Amino acid sequence: MIDSHCHPNCKELEDIAAEIMERAYSSGVESFMIVGCDLDDSLKALSMADKFKDFGAYAAVGIHPHEAQRYEINLNYYLDELEEMTRDARVLAWGEIGLDYYYDNSPRGVQRKIFIAQLDRALKLNLPVILHIRDAMSDALDILDDYKKNLKLLFHCYSGGLEHLERVLDMGGLCALGGAVTWKGKRSDELRQVAKLINIDRLLIETDCPYMTPAPFRGKLNEPGYIKYVYEAVAAVKDIEFNELEYKIKINFEKFFEIK
Ligand SMILES: [Zn+2]
Ligand SMILES: [Zn+2]
Repeated sequence: MIDSHCHPNCKELEDIAAEIMERAYSSGVESFMIVGCDLDDSLKALSMADKFKDFGAYAAVGIHPHEAQRYEINLNYYLDELEEMTRDARVLAWGEIGLDYYYDNSPRGVQRKIFIAQLDRALKLNLPVILHIRDAMSDALDILDDYKKNLKLLFHCYSGGLEHLERVLDMGGLCALGGAVTWKGKRSDELRQVAKLINIDRLLIETDCPYMTPAPFRGKLNEPGYIKYVYEAVAAVKDIEFNELEYKIKINFEKFFEIK
């Protein structure tokens, strides 16, 4: 199995990262994308990708929309620092970046400015991008229209529902689904509909740990070892064998991030 988006570098997990990575690896998770949310976090993602490279760990670096405001002044300096991190062979993508109008932790105009600047940087470096978009799909897709031809897009924790799915797929993007497909409720029902409709070659699976814990452990901290519950839920709605899903996701992951 592949965990295409996880945060063992976050403050809740960093002290037990070795333990959870080992646990995940021995339960059959053979590759991890460790994602950065700000400068420090990206640096930690990079050092963990190095430390856990025998477990198939890679990293992405970027500034999360929650953190946008902290980086508005001297933005180019910070982007240069992130660009420097991308020189490391374990860094395969720019992210997570995007817009989050649900929490609105940074003003929307600032979020858009930091998002666009990072898309430009990813374009310059020819790196795929990992997108975090929540309650902001229309604005995000309008911005991405200018980049879709030249950038590989991964909609992490896809939450655009059926409403935005066609436009997302038309952009050539991949959608990553996580623990929410195992939950009860209307939004998760719709997400299962998405999982069912979406062509398997446009799909990735993720934990987004420590968040989005799948159903049997909901309320606990999430970790990459729990990803099999997400695989099981997606395999069930798509009515395919677990092993087939596992194989296809691995191919998608390696192709998207250009892992040889
Ligand atoms: Zn996210
Ligand atoms: Zn994340």
